Amino acid sequence: MSISVGIDLGTTFSAVAYIDPKSKSPQIIPNREGKKITPSVIQFLDGEMIFGSEAEDAYNAGEPNCVATFKREMGNDEPYCYIDGVPYTSEKLSSLLLRYLKENAEEVLGESIKDAVITVPAYFYSREREATYRAAEAAGLKVKKIIDEPNAAAMAYGLTNWRENANILVYDLGGGTFDVTLVHMGKNGELSTITTRGNHQLGGRDWDNRIEDLLFDRFESETDLDLRSDPDLSAIIRGMCEDVKKNLSVMTTVKATASFPNFGRASVLISRQEFEESTSDLLERTGSLCQAVLDEAGITIKNVTDILLVGGSTRMPQVSNYIQKLFGKKPITHVNPDEAVALGAAIQSSKKNTEYASLSVQVVEGKKVTDRSKSGLNNFVAVKPAHKLDSINSLSLRETTAHALGVVAVNDEENCYYNEVIIPANHPRPVRAAKRFRYYTSSTSNNTLDVYMVQGDNPNPTDCIIPYKYVVSGIQHVNKGEKIGTVIRVQYSYDDNGIIHVQARQGDSNRDLPIRKDDAPRDISKFGHPINSADNKRDSSMGLMMNHGGSGGVIHKYKAVTFSNVEWEKYDNIPVHPSGAEFNEPTIHVVANEKQIEFHGYNVSQMDEGVTYTIDSNDDFEIECNIDTSTIQPHPGGFLKILLGIISANLNQNGGNILLDGEGVAMVGSKFNLKMSLSDGGHYEVYVDGKLVGSKVHETSGGVDVTFGFEHDSHCCSILSHAYISNIDMMQCADSGEDESAETPTWDD
Ligand code: ADP
Ligand code: MG
Repeated sequence: MSISVGIDLGTTFSAVAYIDPKSKSPQIIPNREGKKITPSVIQFLDGEMIFGSEAEDAYNAGEPNCVATFKREMGNDEPYCYIDGVPYTSEKLSSLLLRYLKENAEEVLGESIKDAVITVPAYFYSREREATYRAAEAAGLKVKKIIDEPNAAAMAYGLTNWRENANILVYDLGGGTFDVTLVHMGKNGELSTITTRGNHQLGGRDWDNRIEDLLFDRFESETDLDLRSDPDLSAIIRGMCEDVKKNLSVMTTVKATASFPNFGRASVLISRQEFEESTSDLLERTGSLCQAVLDEAGITIKNVTDILLVGGSTRMPQVSNYIQKLFGKKPITHVNPDEAVALGAAIQSSKKNTEYASLSVQVVEGKKVTDRSKSGLNNFVAVKPAHKLDSINSLSLRETTAHALGVVAVNDEENCYYNEVIIPANHPRPVRAAKRFRYYTSSTSNNTLDVYMVQGDNPNPTDCIIPYKYVVSGIQHVNKGEKIGTVIRVQYSYDDNGIIHVQARQGDSNRDLPIRKDDAPRDISKFGHPINSADNKRDSSMGLMMNHGGSGGVIHKYKAVTFSNVEWEKYDNIPVHPSGAEFNEPTIHVVANEKQIEFHGYNVSQMDEGVTYTIDSNDDFEIECNIDTSTIQPHPGGFLKILLGIISANLNQNGGNILLDGEGVAMVGSKFNLKMSLSDGGHYEVYVDGKLVGSKVHETSGGVDVTFGFEHDSHCCSILSHAYISNIDMMQCADSGEDESAETPTWDD
């Protein structure tokens, strides 16, 4: 038989758990030493690797070739250490540890491991998650899912303490990371994460460092030795810190004794009170992250039902005291903080993974928020008393995106970069979303587009993390769209594991463009500077280039214009019939939907109806549509009018003339494809059935009208007439501040 396991791959300690087939409950698999947790330490000794307490002891004694806390550098491709000249990345070290944990668990249980759920800090970025995933696969584990440590802990807790409608704040202070996550216990055992914050450079190690400072001061004044500048003596002090810290969790004063070569033994005292005073700023940093989580969730301290403490560092009494002061209630401590994460991962390992959801974003007073209406968070209903769930089957987890994900885009004025968010933070995952961007193609060079991914929602990309650059290639040169560019749809997916995938398609194509993932440049400061005119030189074929001579274009916000997403003015001027007769004129003459506009003339003499949209002469604008005027017939004198600035078309049932600044440039029949564009503040172009028929520069300032109208002059008639314009694609390369993310359909892999 083979089993599924949950693995808490910790910075300082790791643990493995599974669902015990007899009790059907999660259980820790002890290691060969019989211990429930295994130090995340490796000692390399004479070509062998040593794990467990032996490695930890060697590490604490300052022996060479011992490595610990490597999880802090997960995702960093630089070597974490060199052992006998061989470089080891954090990912490599993690895979060695995972292999040990796997083999250890298989040996202890006498079963092989089928697959595993691995936990990571909720605040881990995609890069760290990917590295964790690869480390596990390299260790011979099939990764079923990566879940967030606080969620796993909440699952383990929820199994025995389910409280419907409760908001649980999971406070996880480990050895190297801090995470705080708000989870909601809903109906039917559904646990959903609401929001999460964290700092993966804050943990027990920082408390150790404060002890270290105290110990250095004390021992130096006690011995008069210059301990700090002597590496061997420093190692002695460093080796003691963690023990002193742990002892201070149970004693109010701790005596630390050390023996220094050429000096002998010396002892100093450290009190819990001074330790607490010297670390209060660290606790406050955790407190402000707690507050940030509540603010983001839109709830107050009063709405927090329980605070769950996880992570070894929460054993320090200062943590519970601080939490009690902050929240006015005692935190929950009856969950074993070392085991909860692995136990929760084991529960998840027995479950099916979730399917992709579509993006649901509400716009509240112009600010995008994730739709939480389904979470029950804001329904102030009574919290039910805690009870045990019947079985692990009645528990399910819905995780959310920890960070917003955007792309470095160019603003409307083309003078600075900004972060265009594609997926907001705290949205249930897995989730996909796509946006449309414009890109100027070139006929002479490779058309590639640089998608700089941004993690975070600050509008300034330099205040966020740019983990990767994705280079999109295979973009077809678009002859017609030189002035206004082509449309590239960029899709982001935040998968079940919190790993991000990027896809891109051109225009309406259903084929993914080739994408290469590159490291982001180390220096991203250029995204904080104005785009200077040298970089910004745009010529009609090369598009906007960011690097001199480079081939990568950057992304411009693309705005699709329809009859519903921007404000069109409707006009309908039907004068009274000269005879005074009434003809039961219907009120609707113009029907304009997303992709089609219809004009219906009725039993009237004179009419002038249509829709107008005014753009700024600096807005680049393009319309492409199919026109059919054949059904105007046999209405005499009626004609369809289409205008973009100086371009006009007046068409009757047989077609007609296309005019550019009053001059005829093409004769058309009743059915044809028309494309008109305005760019660069006055460059007009007209295409008929894909062919350029006229272009003219006509500098304009102020507003330029885009009109679809139907007219006929004064005469008596009682004939119906219709005209149709279909497949209308309009795009405007200026941003009116609206967000059309929800309108760009996503696609499956
Ligand atoms: P991680 O998840 O980062 O591996 P753990 O949750 O296992 O971390 O917590 C390890 C941290 O907890 C270490 O910094 C360790 O010193 C600290 N720790 C463990 N027990 C105690 C204790 N009794 N008092 C204070 N700190 C403790
Ligand atoms: Mg942990």
